[in-house]
Amino acid sequence: MSGAARILIVEDEPKIARLAADYLHAAGWETVQVHRGDEAEARFADEAFDLVVLDLMLPGVDGLTLCKSFRAQSTVPIIMVTARVEEVDRLLGLEVGADDYLCKPFSPRELVARVKAQLRRQGWVRGTPKTGLDLQEDALRAVYEGAAADLTRVEFRILSALLAQEGVILSRDQLIAAAYEDHRVVSDRTIDTHMKNLRRKLMTVMGDAMGIRSVYGVGYRWEVEP
Ligand code: CA
Repeated sequence: MSGAARILIVEDEPKIARLAADYLHAAGWETVQVHRGDEAEARFADEAFDLVVLDLMLPGVDGLTLCKSFRAQSTVPIIMVTARVEEVDRLLGLEVGADDYLCKPFSPRELVARVKAQLRRQGWVRGTPKTGLDLQEDALRAVYEGAAADLTRVEFRILSALLAQEGVILSRDQLIAAAYEDHRVVSDRTIDTHMKNLRRKLMTVMGDAMGIRSVYGVGYRWEVEP
């Protein structure tokens, strides 16, 4: 892909919209700001966007309705912005279909990191992962600056899944599917135990560079440096 990705920012608070646009623009992307849901609907129908940052509470048409409508028309990545953490499960669920979310108030740097992660998935942001981790599948080892962590097969697969989608939250169900080939029934607590062990092992070789973060009530992700 060539040129800059074009990002639609739908946000009725002009200050927040402008701040988001400034940071995204500084990161090298084109932005379009709209302040009403119905306006967003019209622009989305007429123009091509590579990503949408979508506030939940909007005049005209609300963000939930817009997200479902955009999702029905396109696979464009959608990052929802909400003030209420209890809505997150629903936003990321199949019915609404957002790809990621940010809770207000959010830091512009965090927004840039999330956008980058979504665009990377779409093939926009090229380059090698900056994690510095060398995954050696045959040896079930993760090597960081010469120090090796020996992993179990399940830990190795969980780590591979997180790194393959840096910055993207994976639910426990998605991690279970990635970790076990035989579709066995595994409890959430089992995944949490594997995750705890994996994080401990990586901490011993990576220290603070270990990027696994738990996202309360949702799952885990490998944090992307902005
Ligand atoms: Ca709003």
